[in-house]
Amino acid sequence: MKLRKTLTIVIAKLTIKILRLLKKGGTTLPGKVAFKLYPDILKSIANDFEIIMVTGTNGKTTTSRIIEEILKNNNVDYITNKSGANLLSGITTTFIQAVSLFGKPKYKTALIESDEAAFNQVTKHLQPKSVVVTNFFRDQLDRFGELYSTLNAVKSGLDRLDEKTTLILNADDSMCASLGHETDKPVFFYGFGEAASENSSENINTDAMFCIFCKGKYKYKSHVYGHLGGFYCPECGYSRPAADLECIAIEEAASSYTNIKWKCSKALSNDEAEHTTQINLPGLYNVYNAMAAAACGLSLAYSYETVQKAMESFECGFGRMETINVGDKSIKLILVKNPTGFNQVLNFLTLDSQPLNIAFLINDKLADGTDISWLWDVDFEHLNTANDRIVNLITSGIRGEDMAVRLKYSGLDTRKIRIIKDYQRVIDEGLKAVSSGGCFYILPTYTAMLDIRGILKKKFNLKEFWK
Ligand SMILES: [Zn+2]
Repeated sequence: MKLRKTLTIVIAKLTIKILRLLKKGGTTLPGKVAFKLYPDILKSIANDFEIIMVTGTNGKTTTSRIIEEILKNNNVDYITNKSGANLLSGITTTFIQAVSLFGKPKYKTALIESDEAAFNQVTKHLQPKSVVVTNFFRDQLDRFGELYSTLNAVKSGLDRLDEKTTLILNADDSMCASLGHETDKPVFFYGFGEAASENSSENINTDAMFCIFCKGKYKYKSHVYGHLGGFYCPECGYSRPAADLECIAIEEAASSYTNIKWKCSKALSNDEAEHTTQINLPGLYNVYNAMAAAACGLSLAYSYETVQKAMESFECGFGRMETINVGDKSIKLILVKNPTGFNQVLNFLTLDSQPLNIAFLINDKLADGTDISWLWDVDFEHLNTANDRIVNLITSGIRGEDMAVRLKYSGLDTRKIRIIKDYQRVIDEGLKAVSSGGCFYILPTYTAMLDIRGILKKKFNLKEFWK
């Protein structure tokens, strides 16, 4: 068995090398090869690691990167996977890279982001010490039933883990919080306190209208965004659990950072004082990401100072935002893939005080979702709040025309909306409309992102900027 294990590691490592030589940075194939040769390979090498896992629909990458900062601040050596390698094969490749030929780990700690749909499968092989679940939202590909089956799959994955595994869960998400309901494992919840959210009794979002336990209709004491907030079920009494880490006030919400006041329960930290922290990211969804990471760090007994420092120093903008400087102007690429994420990006754009030049690149290939009706769930009407700052709106991609129609229906000034199908021209015209010092925002769906990125790379002679 030892020989088989070593042989598998050798061949997988060779596969990684060859792919690199061919300049194909693939993370899927080596893991797949390893599984073929030795189905227990991941289980056998991951056993020696202390594993922190992050899963959920939105915010996995940002949350993982903030936890990474916490580890760095505590001089912990670790391995981690990138968001493109968050399925079973990619995770396997990550572990194989991190062990010697005999399967001995180079470091003790592994920070692993897992796709929520793959989580159930991944936990057949890994036994994490902590699991952070960010939230459950409907991706544009999902139907409602699929969202619940994803939740159930994550639940099955958690049920399989031993009772020492600590769960870090979003208290404000009725679906995510249900994972901590009557569990045998230690749970820490994080969320927004009532004073830090809006008063609202209505659940305006349709992702989770009905009680997961009795199908009663949720009511809300307070509301943050989407289906997140102080939910409760009048029928069976299931309600938002008390949060161990709570944002008690949003002091300032700027376009590049958020100031929050927060505190912890005694169970999570000895320090029960209120803290004010400037999270170096905009948007309430990033406050959730920072709280998830902080709760994880504190539950692992890292100090308040190192946790706070990570929240303050973390830099990334969006989970996936990339800036390209072109002379004295810049292009910002932000991936859009579902209504919730899209709404957060629009929120971010309207918070800024700069003129707005935006291109929407909408494709409907398999990886984007072939049904583009999700665009009607995006709150483009919100852009009207920044009407006087909108200079130029370009729509493009395979469904550029549909996108233009959607913008027209949102009541925006149609004279500012143009359909340009050619990406070269999108870039040229977009940059032309930006004044010096300004920014041109490109919001593509997944496959449109790959296309425009290729063109930008060539046009501006960029190195591999997508990391
Ligand atoms: Zn209920």
